[in-house]
Amino acid sequence: MLIGVPKEIKNHEYRVGLTPESVTELTHAGHRVMVETQAGAGIGDSDDEYRAAGAEIANDARVVFDAADMIVKVKEPQAVERAMLRPGQLLFTYLHLAPDPDQTRDLVNSGAIAIAYETVTDANGALPLLKPMSQVAGRMSIQAGATALEKAHGGRGVLLGGVPGVKPAKVVVLGGGVVGFHAAENAVGLQADVTILDKSPAALERLSGHFGAKARVIYSNKAAIAEHVAAADLIIGAVLVPGASAPKLVTRDMLGTMQPGAVLVDVAIDQGGCFETSHATTHADPTYVVDGIVHYCVANMPGGVARTSTYALNNATLPHVLRLANLGWKEALRADKHLRAGLNVWNGHVTCEPVAEVQNYTF
Ligand code: NAD
Repeated sequence: MLIGVPKEIKNHEYRVGLTPESVTELTHAGHRVMVETQAGAGIGDSDDEYRAAGAEIANDARVVFDAADMIVKVKEPQAVERAMLRPGQLLFTYLHLAPDPDQTRDLVNSGAIAIAYETVTDANGALPLLKPMSQVAGRMSIQAGATALEKAHGGRGVLLGGVPGVKPAKVVVLGGGVVGFHAAENAVGLQADVTILDKSPAALERLSGHFGAKARVIYSNKAAIAEHVAAADLIIGAVLVPGASAPKLVTRDMLGTMQPGAVLVDVAIDQGGCFETSHATTHADPTYVVDGIVHYCVANMPGGVARTSTYALNNATLPHVLRLANLGWKEALRADKHLRAGLNVWNGHVTCEPVAEVQNYTF
């Protein structure tokens, strides 16, 4: 199979669909890989590294789209990219179609077969191709919060781990799923005083078993949230209620109970945020202050560490790319119901029920 990797064109997107290491795996399996020139430049992977891995380098995206049997990307195809897709061509990338009717219409009209990373499932019903980005955002939330706590960034001038003789900062993690677990891991690693709040008995048990005495694990209710928020130096918002907007766990009134210069990092901002005073920010201007409390609400945190994120994403996607290339999409989807859950558009039809429902397509 010929696998094409165009350079990402969405604003400030530096990640790339395949790393040179992934290209090596595919070429060793007997496939051809065509990469658009400079596709890896944003993460420091040069055309020469791709060539050494066995890729052919194409001068523009049109050549890649025309030649490829399967396109592997990161972000949803932009309008100019959608116009280059053809019937029967396979597209494997993040799509997030539900809120994007224009993209759905173009993919349906293209006749391409579009498999979305974000709806591929695993045996536990989880979303394994979303997980690496939550891991990245969770770990990053602690370094973003630590920076925001510095005086020059508006924070209260507290070092997360303290030093011998000076107490550490209090870090409160709201939601102990993938983001929250990885945030807590990094905060514990920096010797902060860590409290995790969650509602799910299974999560509470898992977190308690893992962290033991290294972190407090508390059932999340209004009283517990109010108590821990008031005492916190840094709060990480990491809750998710699948299919719903994030619950507003910290209201504007509660900011008045906090210590001036304390920091909120709202990782859940892509679901509307779990602090009432959150609004989405960018890497170029990540923080703002409300009532003396610093807010960090970057909606695409993994983009800030594009190299790590690309490699983390490839670790999760490559086995599927290999299977699609080795077996062909029909056989690969027939053999794996979890990969089949990723099929969003096929041959002019929407094949993902929630997308079809919300956009009035026959399912
Ligand atoms: P997850 O499902 O693994 O974890 C969410 C946790 O929140 C679960 O353990 C759940 O029990 C808990 N929860 C739900 N309601 C709660 C409440 N009232 N109090 C306490 N806990 C509660 O989800 P995740 O992968 O960790 O993702 C968390 C959020 O981070 C999602 O909105 C996700 O989209 C977002 N995210 C954002 C970025 C970014 O760049 N900003 C990157 C990755 C993920």
